[in-house]
Amino acid sequence: MLRAMERLNDCFAASDRLLTVGEAAERLQTRLVPVVGHERVPLSAARDRILAEPLVSGLNVPGYDNAAVDGYAFAQGQKRYRIAGRAAAGQPFPYQLAPGDAVRILTGAPMPEGADTVAMQEDCRLDGETVTVPAGLDAGSNYRKAGENIRQGETVFEAGRRLGPLQLGVAASLGVTMLEVFRPLRVALFSTGDELALPGKPLAPGQLYDSNRTMLRAFLEADGLVVTDLGILSDDAPSVKVALVEAAAGHDVVITSAGISTGEEDHVAASVSALHFWRLAVKPGRPLALGSIGNAAFVGLPGNPVAAAACFVMLVRPMLGLLGGGGWTPPPSTSVPAGFTMKKKTGRREWLRVRLDGNGAARKAGPDGSALLHVMAEADGLLDIPEHVAAIAPGDHFSMFRL
Ligand code: AMP
Ligand code: MG
Repeated sequence: MLRAMERLNDCFAASDRLLTVGEAAERLQTRLVPVVGHERVPLSAARDRILAEPLVSGLNVPGYDNAAVDGYAFAQGQKRYRIAGRAAAGQPFPYQLAPGDAVRILTGAPMPEGADTVAMQEDCRLDGETVTVPAGLDAGSNYRKAGENIRQGETVFEAGRRLGPLQLGVAASLGVTMLEVFRPLRVALFSTGDELALPGKPLAPGQLYDSNRTMLRAFLEADGLVVTDLGILSDDAPSVKVALVEAAAGHDVVITSAGISTGEEDHVAASVSALHFWRLAVKPGRPLALGSIGNAAFVGLPGNPVAAAACFVMLVRPMLGLLGGGGWTPPPSTSVPAGFTMKKKTGRREWLRVRLDGNGAARKAGPDGSALLHVMAEADGLLDIPEHVAAIAPGDHFSMFRL
C-alpha cells in the first residue's frame, strides 16, 4: 500500500508547464496502480464490483453433448430406426443406444450414449414405432458438443473486469457462488465555497445552490464506489484543513470541487500536502489539483459545474478506475461529423457539448459557458476538438465521448 502511495505522489508531481490532456492522461494511466485490497463476496453482493482474480471455469460449457433442436438422435448407418425411448432437458435417455435404435430428443436433452447425429423433426418421417431420417446429414449435426463454448480451466474473465448482470450470470452458469473482488474505493466528497447553499434551503443574496456534490456523488455511486458525502466547506482555512485531514483518515480518495484556483479565497490548497496543480490545455478547464493528504489521494476539481463534470468524466473517473482495480476507463467514443462551423484557438483542446441530429451530425447542445450544466445535461456527448484545429467546418470528423 505504501508503494502505491509513493507511486501516486510521484505520478502527481507533474511539471508546472501547461499539460495537454493527452499528456495528463498518459501520465495517470501509466503510473497509477490499485490502492485497494481484495475480499471474497457472494454473487448477490458482487454487482458493480471489480474482479481481483481471473474467473477460471471449473466446468465445460455445455457440460455434456446435447440436442440443439427437437428431433431424433441416432448413430449414422441406416435410414430407418426403431424409436427406443425419449430424452428431454433434465431427463436423459438412460441406456446405451442399441444398433438400429433412435431416441426422440428435445432441445437441450443430453445426447444418448452411442448417438452421433440429431435429425430435425421437420425432416423426419414417423411410421408407428419407427422413424425415417433424412439422407445426407453429416455425423455431428444438430447437437452441441461438451465444452464447445467454454473449456474447463479456461479464463472466462480477467482480473479488472467490472461485474454487471451479464458477467454475474456467467459466473452463476459456472456454478460459482463467491468471487474475489477489489474492495470498493472509499471516497470522501466535499463542495467548497461560502456562496453555496443546500437545495431545500432559501437562497441568501449572492448564494447559489450546490450542484457539484449531487452530480459527483451520483457519478461515483453509479460506478460502485462508496461515497461519504461530507457537505460544504466554508472558505475558512483552518476549518477546511481539519475537515480534509479527518476525511483522509477513513478514505482512499478525497474529492473537492472549487476553491483551488489561486484566488485569495481559495483555502483548499493550504490544507493538502504534496499538492500539484495540473494546468491543462483544455476548455472547459481551470486547473485540476492532485495530491495526497495522509494516506489518501486528493483530487480538487474545478468549481464551475461543466468544467467539474468534464474533468471528472474524461480524467478523474478513468483515474479512479485504475486506483480501484478496474483499469483506465474513459467514456466510450465514436467518430461523428460536425454539423456546424466554428473558429477555435489552437494549442488548446476543446470538449464541446453536442447533440446528434437526425443525420448523425454533431450540433452544439446550447451556448458554451462552464456554468451551464443544463446544456451538458441535454448533450449526447463531448465532441473532442484536438489542439491543432483552428476551424471546424460541417463534415469534419471528430471523436465524440458519450455522456
Ligand atoms: P471557484 O473555483 O471557487 O472560484 O468556483 C468557480 C465557480 O464555480 C464559481 O462561480 C462558484 O460559485 C461555482 N461553484 C463552485 N462550487 C460549486 C458547486 N458545488 N455547485 C455549483 N457551482 C459551484
Ligand atoms: Mg470558491
